[in-house]
Amino acid sequence: MTAAFTAGPPGLRPPVPPPAAAVDAAGVRLAALFGGRLRRRAPLADLTTFRTGGAADWLVETARASELAAAIRVANGLGLPLTVLGGGSNVLVADAGVRGLVVRLRHGTISRTAAGTVRADAGVTVNHLVRWTVQRGLSGLERWAGTPGTVGGAVRGNAHFDGRLIGDLVTAVGVVDRAGSELVVPRASMGFGYDESRVQHTGELVRWAEFRVGGGEAAALRAAARRSLAFRKRTQPLGQASAGCVFQNPRPGDGPLPDGVPRSAGALIERAGLKGRRVGGAVVSPRHANFIVNEGGARAADVRRLIESCRTAVAERFGVVLRDEVVYLGEFEAGGAERRAAP
Ligand SMILES: Cc1cc2nc3c(=O)[nH]c(=O)nc-3n(C[C@H](O)[C@H](O)[C@H](O)COP(=O)(O)OP(=O)(O)OC[C@H]3O[C@@H](n4cnc5c(N)ncnc54)[C@H](O)[C@@H]3O)c2cc1C
Repeated sequence: MTAAFTAGPPGLRPPVPPPAAAVDAAGVRLAALFGGRLRRRAPLADLTTFRTGGAADWLVETARASELAAAIRVANGLGLPLTVLGGGSNVLVADAGVRGLVVRLRHGTISRTAAGTVRADAGVTVNHLVRWTVQRGLSGLERWAGTPGTVGGAVRGNAHFDGRLIGDLVTAVGVVDRAGSELVVPRASMGFGYDESRVQHTGELVRWAEFRVGGGEAAALRAAARRSLAFRKRTQPLGQASAGCVFQNPRPGDGPLPDGVPRSAGALIERAGLKGRRVGGAVVSPRHANFIVNEGGARAADVRRLIESCRTAVAERFGVVLRDEVVYLGEFEAGGAERRAAP
């Protein structure tokens, strides 16, 4: 991979802008593939639920899942880093933006692949998949109603809700590796764990996922979906910009907790007295302590500093170092400060 569009070494000097000729050549190649859907210096904030962060050097929204492999190959050929974005509901984009090509997966198809399984393209939203199955009297996914984001993002992070992991429903996943080759990964090889899946380690991109479904009665499934939505409305600050839970819950191996303290990141943050703590426009939600909300005008650097201050306060009080659930896209310094902005 060439260094044409990558940022310079962390914190030493501003990254060297790519030569104009290289930018033009990349634009020509990318435009040949994506036509008018290609955008240069495209703001990403409004494509995320945190509503903050800078621009992508290049952004394309895919119209078909098959475009993913083509995007990977062309980016490789140009030496451009490639980042995939789904619903943008679990990411914090750096104020300096994201170098290279950002591929935003949108839409896609859902189909019944065999008795008892449903396949959805990565760009399908989880909510659309829930509606699709519920309408057809297919059970299993109804409790995932209200989960923001796409099938691809949910599989990558093994989305969890109310003690369930979405990976438990997955039977197989179609992925594209970083060379652009496609393969089918059976569930047993997906490495699903809490907040974990194989693709986080391999860098593979999810193209589709197949889910196990059962039989059900549409009205009963709809009622279960509504109960999940109502629970979310009661417990989460849904009207405000956020990326959902910022930290993973501590795992048993993370060490003992004081008696009576639950293994919940939100509970630890709350008991450390951090609800309402603020940096700029970023605030620890008074409704759900594991949510940081952007009250308007928060910079990504504000959010990141607030995250680090919560991590430090919980570690000092309870001896537990919380891990990130939110994914950082673009250039952040360890410890929360950002590297200097790229041009
Ligand atoms: C109000 C609110 C409530 C939430 N509730 C929950 C909840 O109950 N449970 C839960 O688990 N999460 C929850 N979240 C977080 C978020 O919705 C999930 O993590 C979701 O699965 C992210 O999907 P996405 O498409 O938005 O991914 P994005 O935010 O777009 O991306 C997240 C990561 O996945 C990668 N990615 C995206 N698509 C692909 C792909 N096709 N292949 C490979 N990698 C990919 C991205 O590069 C990035 O690293 C909540 C968020 C909000 C804002």
